[in-house]
Amino acid sequence: MTNSSSDTQIVKKGDIEIRIHRKMCISAATCVVYAPNTFDLDTDNIAIVKKNEWDKLEKIIAAAQSCPVVAIEIYEKGKKLYPKV
Ligand code: SF4
Repeated sequence: MTNSSSDTQIVKKGDIEIRIHRKMCISAATCVVYAPNTFDLDTDNIAIVKKNEWDKLEKIIAAAQSCPVVAIEIYEKGKKLYPKV
C-alpha cells in the first residue's frame, strides 16, 4: 500500500503511536531489519508502518533508534518515548 503523498504517517495501536516523517526517510531500511512486523518499505522505498500485529515495544524503539535520519517517533499514552527531547 502506498501513501507517498502524505509527509507524516501516524498510526496508533492501543497506547502506542508511531509517526514516520516520510520526507526524511532515506530508505536505509534498518527499521525494517529491527522490527519487521512493524515497518516496511512501500513501492517508493519509503518506510511505512504496517497494519498487522506489531513487534514488541523494545524492538520498535530499537528500530526508531536505528534510523540514521531520526525519521521515526514513538509515543506511549501521548508521551514521547523516542527521540528524547
Ligand atoms: S530506518 Fe529511517 S531512513 Fe531507513 S527506512 Fe526506516 S525510516 Fe527510512
